Amino acid sequence: MSERERENVVRRLEACSDEELREVFSQVFKARRPYPAEEAYHHNRYFLGVASRQLAGEPQEPERWEPAAVYAVADVDRSAYGDGPGPDVGFSQFGTCDGCGVKVCSNLKQGLCPICGEPVSMS
Ligand SMILES: [Zn+2]
Repeated sequence: MSERERENVVRRLEACSDEELREVFSQVFKARRPYPAEEAYHHNRYFLGVASRQLAGEPQEPERWEPAAVYAVADVDRSAYGDGPGPDVGFSQFGTCDGCGVKVCSNLKQGLCPICGEPVSMS
């Protein structure tokens, strides 16, 4: 990929809504594996994630941050929501996958874990 092509891709991705970004990366990550030669005995995935952490302490204290919480962005459950990406409200629904234990987030209350594919309910 040329520098110009890469810049065009970056600009397009920067202009996407969060939900569009999920759709693009979800498709890419379904086709790519970090360690494809190990897939038979080592389940491995790329995923789109959100990491967040809170400012700790009082305003007069030196700035310090709480440990980060990491959430995998859930795939859309097409059986529940059809083909659309859902509302553009950000990934404000949170849950934990019963299949693999990963914390997930979404703009929808129901999703599919991007790591193991199990349905996840979020609130
Ligand atoms: Zn899972």
